[in-house]
Amino acid sequence: MIDDNLRASRQTADNRPELQLSFEFFPPKTDAMEERFWDSIGKLAPLKPRFVSVTYGAGGSTRERTLRMVSRITSDTGVPAAAHLTCVGSSRDEVDAVVRGYKQAGINRIVALRGDPPEGVGQPFTPHPDGYENAADLVAGIRRIGDFDISVAAYPEKHPQSADWDADIDNLKRKIDAGADRAITQMFFRNADYLRFLEKARKAGITAPIVPGIQPIHSFKQISGFAARCGASIPDWMAERFVGLEDDPETHALVAAAVAAEQVTELLDEGVTEFHFYTLNRSNLVLALARLLGRRSG
Ligand code: FAD
Repeated sequence: MIDDNLRASRQTADNRPELQLSFEFFPPKTDAMEERFWDSIGKLAPLKPRFVSVTYGAGGSTRERTLRMVSRITSDTGVPAAAHLTCVGSSRDEVDAVVRGYKQAGINRIVALRGDPPEGVGQPFTPHPDGYENAADLVAGIRRIGDFDISVAAYPEKHPQSADWDADIDNLKRKIDAGADRAITQMFFRNADYLRFLEKARKAGITAPIVPGIQPIHSFKQISGFAARCGASIPDWMAERFVGLEDDPETHALVAAAVAAEQVTELLDEGVTEFHFYTLNRSNLVLALARLLGRRSG
């Protein structure tokens, strides 16, 4: 069931490719949130991530903040930063202007996404009349503007709007063929889903890295809400572990660490050497998980 490349790297564990980590943040809205954002960046930067990325709010609502954060991460910490970008509600010219802005600011990494309609995830997506139609179209547009390192999204449980698996994998292939360098997955909690997806992608001729997106459970209530909205399922065994812990933050944190530790160590055993962590602008769980993967900050 596992990917040949993974099998090869597992068999030669001593020569395993170097571990690559990336961390995703969202642009803070308030001064207090901004303080936590920089505190977490400061704690995670010494782990030498390949890049940290900053998301792009629905409909471009965080355009300026995303640019400000990625620019400052690059200048203040020296850690390479990637800016997310979506096609929602903007013409091609407007999106291209944002891409040129990133280029001028020295940002050469973009996470290119279609985005979701303002009515919410799961509602049909209608492109702007002069806009990019989907993420593959956006990747091609970015490639025309400059030599960016481009990541795109992948869905181990299938994107909710893909008619079937073939359509989903074809769409990922279109994004890679348009010039994306890697895919980063949506959060998932059953490693078998990721490994099955990887197998389907490799069979379809996709050779680019497909980096697992790991979501530590800082708050089970909050993460299960996110998961439901983006089509990621919460296994019963996992929900069971968090039952009754809403008012017991210490036990909740210990269970969350154990759940994520199981997930990443199992993937490491499967030969996975690249991980993308959804940090939600917090550092503790990610610092602990990085240690389990053999990466320390000092
Ligand atoms: P696409 O790859 O374009 O595909 C979306 C769906 O449309 C798929 O089902 C695909 O099969 C289908 N499709 C595409 N083209 C066609 C076609 N020609 N004909 C028929 N069907 C088609 N959202 C944000 O708003 N901001 C962010 O910063 C952000 N960051 C993210 C980071 C990661 C790592 C991930 C996994 C997701 C992120 N998202 C973000 C969410 C993302 O915008 C949504 O999941 C969105 O619904 C799909 O985006 P996509 O880039 O995968 O779209």
